[in-house]
Amino acid sequence: MGYIASMSMPVSSDTDQTLAQLAKVAATPPWTSSPAGGPRVLFISLYCFKSFPVRGFHQLARQSGIDSHAVFFKDNLTNRHTPITEDEIGYLKALLRRIDPDMVAVSVLAPYVPAARRVIAAVREITDAPVVAGGKHPTISPDEALGYADYVCKGEGELVVLDLFERLRAGSRDFSGIQGLWHRDAEGRTVDMGQRMLIQDLDLIPFEAYGEPQMHFIEYGRLYESDPEMEAEEILVMAGRGCVYMCSYCVNSLLIPMNRGNGRFVRLRSPANVIAQVMDRMARQPKARFASFNDEVFGVFDDWTREFSEAYRQAGGPPFNCELVPKLIKEKNVRALVEAGLYEMHFGIQSGSDEIRTDVLKRPGKNVELLEKARMLAECGVQVQCDLILGNPFDTAEAQEESIRLLAAMPQPLKLNTYLMQYFPHYPLTERALKEGLISAADLTEDKVADRTLYNWIYKPDVTHFDRKTILENCIYLIPWNTALVWWLAKRSCERSNPVLGAMVNGLAAWRYQLDFCANPALVWLRRLWLVGRMAATGDLGGLRRRLAARLARST
Ligand code: SF4
Repeated sequence: MGYIASMSMPVSSDTDQTLAQLAKVAATPPWTSSPAGGPRVLFISLYCFKSFPVRGFHQLARQSGIDSHAVFFKDNLTNRHTPITEDEIGYLKALLRRIDPDMVAVSVLAPYVPAARRVIAAVREITDAPVVAGGKHPTISPDEALGYADYVCKGEGELVVLDLFERLRAGSRDFSGIQGLWHRDAEGRTVDMGQRMLIQDLDLIPFEAYGEPQMHFIEYGRLYESDPEMEAEEILVMAGRGCVYMCSYCVNSLLIPMNRGNGRFVRLRSPANVIAQVMDRMARQPKARFASFNDEVFGVFDDWTREFSEAYRQAGGPPFNCELVPKLIKEKNVRALVEAGLYEMHFGIQSGSDEIRTDVLKRPGKNVELLEKARMLAECGVQVQCDLILGNPFDTAEAQEESIRLLAAMPQPLKLNTYLMQYFPHYPLTERALKEGLISAADLTEDKVADRTLYNWIYKPDVTHFDRKTILENCIYLIPWNTALVWWLAKRSCERSNPVLGAMVNGLAAWRYQLDFCANPALVWLRRLWLVGRMAATGDLGGLRRRLAARLARST
């Protein structure tokens, strides 16, 4: 299959004609009852009820006066994704028959390519409406995505989607010639349509749709219309887009070079716009208790942070948590955010070895700096929640010893999330692992990528091996239990290999995984009894009282 060159030169987002249309849409309220007579569009998210893109495009369509539906086809149940059933496909087909869309757009991430193929095959059985794919997989691999979709949006999609609406309004289902939208010509050659410039003013992009009309959720063999996010205690918000780093295992390592010359990659909504979004959700989401800012650059820019903190405090925003690369954390910004309600910060360590973190993962920050930042956060009253990647073939037993020493030196009690190293096609880390023979092409098939990410995203301990590195990784996996026994096992395992201790570590790791992901009732009750016993023995019954009160409140 050949390529033919881009049909038109990229245009600056400042001069992009569609930007004026976006500004008009931004100032238009969304419809409350769907417009009759115009084009109908259907957006599909795969395995993500929280999908920012699909919620965003549904709202963009509503504010554009387009009759839009959003289908959330299955949810992201970490390590426990449920397979697609015939009943669920049946619900999707019934919706397609009822809606009779003029266009179907599917948001696709690499782990869900097999699911996308299955869902799009079902779409094609019911309608001949063109299928457009967007998201990370089509952006990174547009040619492959054209194997399952008619059109592929490369890069950010708002301006492309507005152009699609114009075509549909004009009665056309031929989307060729739209900048940023790839397709195949009559000879089957890929037509490279480049990508749009990045929208610089994020305030122009409507807030995502929550609890709005024409949203459909399919999971556990059921179809329902009420948005589960409206029952959540969390208000999940993206205040910005982009990142300043290019970690070798992250999609930004590809997106940043791809967007050079396309406008500023790191962008934030204005503080007033972010706060308006949070307060709107607070007013409509009755159980909302806290906000989570899901960005990598929240609290990086001094002026923005000062203005946000002051205004958020005055607006009475709920307590919130955020993420930040440790290297970018500044004490004055943390103190301002704490005044506004910051209580927890996600903090990526990823490897305990300075060398592996910087040379292999291409991530900034040495252990000494991470410790300094974590201690400063603790002093400011902020709980640190660390992320660490296990199963990294570049890590050695010595690197895991360093991880344990680093974690032990962190402010306690420690919150720790452990993830398994994933290999996504074309990422620099994947390319290096391939080159060094640590993985093979067989590990990168669509099914293999799906299997590993759907069922082993949160590290699933390998309890069948007793080598030193595996035992140390399993010790790290146990650290969130924060018990004297776990720390003792971790420290002793660092000092020397001992088969008896190794067997204990693997047994406990298997137990923890069963508790967290397999809900084995006998083990769950055993752990509960042990926790109650520990609380009683230490006289610390506060936690028990709080849990019982919460359980009681939920049941009444
Ligand atoms: S800091 Fe986070 S978002 Fe940024 S490149 Fe690294 S992993 Fe990706």
